[in-house]
Amino acid sequence: EKQQVICAGCGVTIQTEDKNKLGYTPPQALERDVVICQRCFRLKHYNEVQDVKLNDDDFLKILNEVGSKDALVVKIVDIFDFHGSWLPGLHRFVSKNPVLLVGNKADVLPQSIKHPKLKQWMKETANEYGLKPIDVHLMSAEKGTGVIETADLIEKYRKGRDVYVVGCTNVGKSTFINRLIKEFGGDEEFLITTSNVPGTTLDMIDVPLDDGSSLYDTPGIVNHHQMAHLLSADELKVVTPRKEIKTKTYQLNEGQTLFFGGLARFDFVKGEPQSFTVHMSNELNVHRTKTEKADELYESHLGELLSPPFKDHAAGFPSLSGREYKIIDGKTDIVFSGLGWVTVHGQGTVVRASVPGGVQTGTRPSFY
Ligand code: GDP
Repeated sequence: EKQQVICAGCGVTIQTEDKNKLGYTPPQALERDVVICQRCFRLKHYNEVQDVKLNDDDFLKILNEVGSKDALVVKIVDIFDFHGSWLPGLHRFVSKNPVLLVGNKADVLPQSIKHPKLKQWMKETANEYGLKPIDVHLMSAEKGTGVIETADLIEKYRKGRDVYVVGCTNVGKSTFINRLIKEFGGDEEFLITTSNVPGTTLDMIDVPLDDGSSLYDTPGIVNHHQMAHLLSADELKVVTPRKEIKTKTYQLNEGQTLFFGGLARFDFVKGEPQSFTVHMSNELNVHRTKTEKADELYESHLGELLSPPFKDHAAGFPSLSGREYKIIDGKTDIVFSGLGWVTVHGQGTVVRASVPGGVQTGTRPSFY
């Protein structure tokens, strides 16, 4: 019978099969006298938080834990994928706890975007989802801009209580926590430990604050409707903006279509000739064609001219399904969850936005 090995760092059961699951340890590390899981190993040696993916059940347990404590909740979203990185249902669990909503990756936004407008929209959208954040803030965990201000806001609102940082995978939670550790606790005496969520084998990173409270980093939560989950790591690199986005403007006539790689499609259905401004990763190829030829082009060139998805991944990729939008107000963004958005100027214009099944599209007033 197989013997159960427990991590000396956090107490999870050690396993050697799945790198992305809790308790993973490379098989050769089992030979050591003291066995610790890879996550604890990295924490100890690199001061680096490694994310482990949660399933839905685990997510509910984490939320229960967060909701049962008197604490400040810091919710991190990717402002480039606001809808895709939202955690639906969070507000039901944390009803009595204040939530500080932090939009990360502000560095990829074009300079011309007005931050106050974006923050106002984040607040309103959170309200629509049933969450009333105590404050809204923007930062770039990677570049470091706005991180100190985030820490100040945390200090202001936590009022001596513990802090839970929540967010789905890929929003930049680990980057943020690592930066906090670097900025505020880089010295040797500063110890990061993990603590278990009662009744589970999940562990949270426990960053001690100077008054004896803790900042807990909850493991990343997988959001199934995110575009990211349809993509391989290499494909994700293409669609994830790494630098400030250079917008691309297309002058189109009705009956023309733009393909964003092979991941999304934008049809100009009806309206006067006008310009459309694409806000997506600089590396994502935009292909213009006639709408009447678009289906055929997609059928025959997915994975080649229209990529990502890359060639080996194109067969069996979920097919595109579309939704029509009529622009009523002024400048409006058509949002492709996980990819970016297209700004439409003309009132009365009708467009159609298509994405793989399960991924969302939507509209919002533009931030210019
Ligand atoms: P987690 O899964 O929420 O812990 O996210 P990570 O911290 O692992 O970050 C996910 C990806 O987003 C990584 O490729 C990061 O380099 C990137 N990232 C994190 N923060 C930022 C940011 O402020 N700006 C940009 N452009 N990328 C970021």
